[in-house]
Amino acid sequence: MTPRRVVVVGGGIIGLTVGWRLAAAGAEVTVCDPAPGRGSSWAAAGMLAPIGEASAAEAPLTRLGLESVRRWPTFADELSADADCTPDDLGFRREGTLQVAFDDDDRRALDELAAVHRLLGLESEVCSARRCRQIEPLLAPSIRGGLLVVGDWQVDPRRVVGALVRALSRRGGRLVTSAVRRLRTTGEPGAHSVEGIELEDGTELEAATVVLASGARAALLDGLPKEAVPPIRPVKGEILRLAAAPFGLRPSLTVRASVRGQFVYVVPRADGEVVVGATMQEAGFDTGVRAGAVLDLLRAAIDLLPALSELSVAECLAASRPGTPDNAPVLGPTPVDGLLLATGHHRNGVLLAPVTGDALVGALFGSGLPREAASFTLGRFT
Ligand SMILES: Cc1cc2nc3c(=O)[nH]c(=O)nc-3n(C[C@H](O)[C@H](O)[C@H](O)COP(=O)(O)OP(=O)(O)OC[C@H]3O[C@@H](n4cnc5c(N)ncnc54)[C@H](O)[C@@H]3O)c2cc1C
Repeated sequence: MTPRRVVVVGGGIIGLTVGWRLAAAGAEVTVCDPAPGRGSSWAAAGMLAPIGEASAAEAPLTRLGLESVRRWPTFADELSADADCTPDDLGFRREGTLQVAFDDDDRRALDELAAVHRLLGLESEVCSARRCRQIEPLLAPSIRGGLLVVGDWQVDPRRVVGALVRALSRRGGRLVTSAVRRLRTTGEPGAHSVEGIELEDGTELEAATVVLASGARAALLDGLPKEAVPPIRPVKGEILRLAAAPFGLRPSLTVRASVRGQFVYVVPRADGEVVVGATMQEAGFDTGVRAGAVLDLLRAAIDLLPALSELSVAECLAASRPGTPDNAPVLGPTPVDGLLLATGHHRNGVLLAPVTGDALVGALFGSGLPREAASFTLGRFT
């Protein structure tokens, strides 16, 4: 049987995951991206944190995140096998996450989060200030307590993206380093079918299926029939990287906090790098890093973990998250025959990569989107 020909538009963590999974399932896959892995995925901290970010108001998204984090260990095993590395090489770490409060308001917010955890049957441990400092001795003495979430983990998205490129190739997939200029379709308005895509240099690629995975730019592709345009907008995020910390200055697990109203997280990598993030701003496609954002993030991080003041700033970066009206991804079929969506992952694209890859395999090779992904189609907006 001739393998199904698939073009994936966008090679961030989502497009590469989908490309790799579809290639492994037997499709003939081409992923197109002028700068693979250099979008939002390059900026991401890599927290896999559905519990710390659980919300009763966004219960379906929380459930999708929990399902995806459950799949991460197998995903990391399979990816590292195809990419000739180990899960450790992906920066996959399971030390858990400590959420810390600085004042009574922060403390109340954590108590509310703990109540959501109880409501949803999720595991977390309310900790005294003393217990927090036993877990992470670098914490400032002034903290007021916290919540330990052992089920929130991390990976290094840059390493994951590198591994996905190797794994895609191992499974026979092709990576074309060019932007897609246009989607090619045939048929009447309202009854379009995919024919393929056109690259920036005018080269046309035929495909029975096109997967739109171009992150924050997914709504902007020329030729996209209006009934298939996903409601995606860019949500700017600024983030910092501090150069590898010597052992005594290195937090042992991810610490998140609201420091007098400023949200901050500190994610220590196994190699000593420390990631400090992140802002959220509606600013179009602007990716300039504001001095005030750097100041606010560093002040909050250093108030939380004073030893960080000794580290050098290695990188300040901003990127556009692919946001949607309900903060959840848009997955699977569209009214255009052969066009599938894998975008809108907003703050959770790294977390949601495993469940997204499986959903697209189900959409293409199974009997449709699997149950856990079925309520995340474009149809929910129309
Ligand atoms: C500061 C920050 C921190 C974050 N932290 C986390 C975190 O801790 N955990 C988590 O789960 N998520 C986090 N995220 C969110 C996460 O980064 C995104 O949800 C995820 O990267 C989305 O992946 P993507 O592949 O859809 O998009 P992207 O990584 O942006 O990839 C889209 C790709 O499409 C390409 N593209 C665009 N247009 C075209 C075209 N016409 N043709 C071909 N290619 C095209 C781009 O070049 C790009 O490479 C964070 C995001 C930011 C900004």
